[in-house]
Amino acid sequence: TRTRSSFEFAAKSLGAMTTLVQSTGSSIEKGESVIDTGYTLRAVGADCIVMRHPSAGAPHLMATHLDIPIINAGDGMHEHPSQALLDAVTILKHKKSFKGLQATIIGDIFHSRVARSACHLLTRFGVKITLCGPPEFVPDIATTLVPGLRVTRHMEDALRGTDVVMLLRDGRVAEVAAPNKTRGAADEKFDARGLIVAPGFVDLHVHLREPGQSYKETIATGTAAAAAGGFTSVCTMPNTQPVVDTAEWVSWLRQPERGAVVNVFPIAAATRGSKGGTLTDFSALQRAGAVAVTDDGKPILDDDIMRMALRLGAELKLPVVQHAEDTRLTENCSMHAGPTSFRLGLRAMPGLAEATVVDRDVTLAQQIRESRLHVAHLSTSDALKAVRRGKRAKARVTCEVTPHHFTLLDENVGEYDTNFKMNPPLRSASDREAILVALADGTVDAIATDHAPHALHEKQVEFERASFGITGLETALGLAVTHLHRAHKIPLTRIVELFTSGPARVFDLNGRGSLARGSFADVTIFDPKKRWTFEAANTHSLSRNTPFDGCQLTGKVVTTIVAGRIVYRT
Ligand SMILES: [Zn+2]
Repeated sequence: TRTRSSFEFAAKSLGAMTTLVQSTGSSIEKGESVIDTGYTLRAVGADCIVMRHPSAGAPHLMATHLDIPIINAGDGMHEHPSQALLDAVTILKHKKSFKGLQATIIGDIFHSRVARSACHLLTRFGVKITLCGPPEFVPDIATTLVPGLRVTRHMEDALRGTDVVMLLRDGRVAEVAAPNKTRGAADEKFDARGLIVAPGFVDLHVHLREPGQSYKETIATGTAAAAAGGFTSVCTMPNTQPVVDTAEWVSWLRQPERGAVVNVFPIAAATRGSKGGTLTDFSALQRAGAVAVTDDGKPILDDDIMRMALRLGAELKLPVVQHAEDTRLTENCSMHAGPTSFRLGLRAMPGLAEATVVDRDVTLAQQIRESRLHVAHLSTSDALKAVRRGKRAKARVTCEVTPHHFTLLDENVGEYDTNFKMNPPLRSASDREAILVALADGTVDAIATDHAPHALHEKQVEFERASFGITGLETALGLAVTHLHRAHKIPLTRIVELFTSGPARVFDLNGRGSLARGSFADVTIFDPKKRWTFEAANTHSLSRNTPFDGCQLTGKVVTTIVAGRIVYRT
């Protein structure tokens, strides 16, 4: 609004005639190319085009095809030159000249077109610029934009001796207000009548497969699937190749070059190589950005190692995530022990293999003050009993449940369908019943997908040789609304809690899972009544190993917003 109206006022006060072309309701919406739009405007007599475009480089493309001036009024996260000019004028109002000035730009420079233009313009006038922010916002390569840029991670350092400070918009919730009662100006209005506007969903358990297995999934494709499923934050599991057991790999996961479209919070390995022998450097991992530690894919079985992990975690306020499986009872097993495994002649895992580990861990968590135990993908009624015992004793014990465990049963494996093979396996009807009760009564803290993509060649094999795991990011909300809300009458507010504030609390993700003023502007807008069919062929994930292909669901994500930017929209 500001850019558009100031260009219009400026043009009109200089005697020019202006016409406004917007993408909505124009031929652009019907698929006309940006170049054709330019030719058309030129043909009807435009002498100059001022252009605001969501794609970086669009004005440049137009300029290479047309012989009239094209003014860039903001292209994607690339540049916003006129805003930089305005900022320069503002500086000159307060300082006599640019000579010898030191300026500091603070905030999300990576995504800021204003920051890029300010760097180009101000350095041209000899201003020395310091960029300040965490690596996700200010990668080290930011200094290569123009000569003389300096990067710092520390606010005090950034402000020392500076003459000018530019604060970028911070991607947080500015205001929550009744309709037509907002005070600020909006870049975009969104009609959400009949829809639910929720805090951005948080998934505590995803396998994005990088580093090392990008044929299954990449951080870019996995987070695109997350955005389509309404998840604005995902916590990545460290069982990659190599295992994420060093601060360097944790930092690597968070670099903008990975192409994540939602927030990625790494969970680091609890033991070196997740081999269960020696604890990793929790403190260094946490400083690099790890939000929890786990050996997921495998349990931390050894009593002493688990005790030490919980102790160290207690000191650092770092949750220890347990993949609860007594592997001494599950070797070579590929599904849950019950009538179906007996019929199919498959070696099978008893529910006890999960419950005994959870039971021991809860006992340890009760003994170690301030320790934080989180049970991953809880799947049995006996494990729930142990979690309840811990919660009653006021130990900080939390747990998550996957959508497939609250929807499917071991019998759904049918005739060796490997898209129903995961670990923990699909369980009995009484286990699922207990999980539904625990989801409703507050025992379960979060719904987590355990999104585990695999390539076709890893699934299209004999059942016992097939990889464990299924994808789950895009079906989680639909399954929750369909099975928990519609079939089992769990209120939508509780379901939203299980996707948002519940998981955010488990890992202390401050400012996530909430829409309170000052929280991160991560928002998920969904239609709780929309009926749709999930098609694996249309997934954003690189892999299609889902048992829910062709599934009729109710409840669909309409728009996903991360830090105030739309990252997915139907
Ligand atoms: Zn696991």
